[in-house]
Amino acid sequence: MVNGKTYEGSCFCGAVQFTVSGEPAGMGYCHCDSCRRWSAGPVNAFTLWNPAAVQISRGADNIGTYNKTPYSYRKWCKTCGGHLFTEHPEMGLIDVYAAVIPDFPYQPGVHVHYEETRLQIKDGLPKMKDVPKEMGGSGITLAE
Ligand SMILES: [Zn+2]
Ligand SMILES: [Zn+2]
Repeated sequence: MVNGKTYEGSCFCGAVQFTVSGEPAGMGYCHCDSCRRWSAGPVNAFTLWNPAAVQISRGADNIGTYNKTPYSYRKWCKTCGGHLFTEHPEMGLIDVYAAVIPDFPYQPGVHVHYEETRLQIKDGLPKMKDVPKEMGGSGITLAE
């Protein structure tokens, strides 16, 4: 990366370690059913990066992959089961979960798929019905 800092990330047990460098393409919270079911949490904090910004530094062969759809290749550590990131080939971006890069200054700017929310969050940030138009969505904003 030409500019920007590098931040360390790892799975729950530390067998898989990686870095992200520079600036993410976007940050926010996803409320979709898929994120909720895969994460077993009510909402998912995401940071989107160009693939070149994400470098696996340890345990690359310890990463499991599952793709229910061609849009999302979900990655986790085979030892601890801890989630790492999700590749979105169609978008050309990798969603690195904010929780696994604890030192990164996560600054969410938007809530996406808020139509599917199970946990309303009144933080004043825009609530997209699905995703922004530039990401192929309706671009419709919902009330908090
Ligand atoms: Zn692990
Ligand atoms: Zn989602």
